[in-house]
Amino acid sequence: MPGAGGNHASWGGLNANASRVIRPAAHENLIAPQEPYLPFGAGRSYGDSGLPAGGCLVDLQGMNRILSFDPATGLMRAEAGATLADILERAIPLGWFLPVTPGTRFVTLGGAIANDVHGKNHHRAGSFGAHVRAMSLVRSDGTRRLCSPEQDGDWLRATIGGMGLTGLIGWAEIQLLRISSPDVMQESLPLAGLSDFFDRLDETDGRFEYGVAWLDSLATGKSLGRGVMMRANHAAAADGGAGASRPGGRRLSVPFTPPVPLVSRLTMRVFNSFYRWRALSGPQERKMPWASFFYPLDAVAHWPRAYGPRGLRQHQSVLPRMKAESAVARLLEAARAAGHASFLTVLKSFGQMPGAGLLSFARPGVTLTLDFAYRGAATDELLDRLDAITLAAGGAVNPYKDARMSAETFRASFPNWRDVLPFLDPLAESRFSRRVGLTGGA
Ligand SMILES: Cc1cc2nc3c(=O)[nH]c(=O)nc-3n(C[C@H](O)[C@H](O)[C@H](O)COP(=O)(O)OP(=O)(O)OC[C@H]3O[C@@H](n4cnc5c(N)ncnc54)[C@H](O)[C@@H]3O)c2cc1C
Repeated sequence: MPGAGGNHASWGGLNANASRVIRPAAHENLIAPQEPYLPFGAGRSYGDSGLPAGGCLVDLQGMNRILSFDPATGLMRAEAGATLADILERAIPLGWFLPVTPGTRFVTLGGAIANDVHGKNHHRAGSFGAHVRAMSLVRSDGTRRLCSPEQDGDWLRATIGGMGLTGLIGWAEIQLLRISSPDVMQESLPLAGLSDFFDRLDETDGRFEYGVAWLDSLATGKSLGRGVMMRANHAAAADGGAGASRPGGRRLSVPFTPPVPLVSRLTMRVFNSFYRWRALSGPQERKMPWASFFYPLDAVAHWPRAYGPRGLRQHQSVLPRMKAESAVARLLEAARAAGHASFLTVLKSFGQMPGAGLLSFARPGVTLTLDFAYRGAATDELLDRLDAITLAAGGAVNPYKDARMSAETFRASFPNWRDVLPFLDPLAESRFSRRVGLTGGA
């Protein structure tokens, strides 16, 4: 999905249209531009929170050295453009893993912090920002701060989840997780309907480090919310089984963008039943290579192309536990009633740990993620309805998956949004921040 601004685009297919692109090569020489700008990681955010509002784009991917790693303590310091894949490559052979990882390893360290991303283990580990021990922050007023929980901790909390609006992260130090084996012991079980997921939530969170459910978005009636629950623990060194610890390189690719979305109801039916079938017919418990468990989507290069030339939109909500089951049902029904079945429908639990940042999305509750091929106004109307259902249940909508939420939705999702204002870099601005009034004189 190339476009202006040096072919930079969001994962959902929005072109950056930046005035120009700056590519710093090393954190030692990093300076923030003296013109409107936005930092850019690997462009794995779906909507427009990672795209500049007409200003220049600072692409940090060339700044990607691992600066230090202590295999005795698991403390790793890396430049902000290093990817989680770069970190895993160094850490795994020495018995360490990421403390938290999103569903792709091709995001940068800076991007993971700036969105305070979450993984399948929020109930155990919280979000990514909770594991940041220190970082550098470079701002357009020429200041360079070393932030840690002990020093300039308020700047650290504003930058974690701050969506690139507080300045440029130059490097960060994170605490990795000690593991005996990078493989996981996965248990998969079929879910006959939504209540199966909720009935098993406490047991899953209690017994497993990781948990995620993929739902069949075409199921209706009593089967609404049927799917597969995958729950796992890191394998012990002594665990046998077939899982080899290979990184699981890309095997498939969507070679070009087709003129119409390939993600039709038919392909979804096949996909969804495949996931159910695997759980029903496969072994209940098996050892899996880490990449297959954590990053199944990384195995298909350029998969957003399957959504066609108009790209995709993702909607992610977090719902308070008490109201989650009925709200998830309403969200699934609204999507189906609009004739907009979601290709990838994912349900996860968030634990009690508060967000590490002022604007962290992850908070106690249950989170539902829906993916839609973009069909213009019809999709936008549906997304508005999903926002309304989410807010009515006391939930919040994820800003880094969004491309159209209103200022009202943002403010209802982040009632404390004003707390971050004193920390914003006056020259940093995204299309999202301008739209919701976070920047531009709110
Ligand atoms: C297949 C897939 C699965 C995903 N699964 C999950 C998931 O499970 N959980 C989850 O939370 N997210 C998930 N995501 C979303 C993704 O993890 C986040 O959007 C992530 O932040 C993207 O990082 P990036 O490096 O691509 O940064 P970008 O998308 O380029 O930028 C993200 C934000 O970080 C800012 N930024 C980037 N670098 C810096 C820097 N050096 N200094 C300051 N600000 C910076 C940008 O301005 C922007 O606001 C998924 C995305 C994909 C494509």
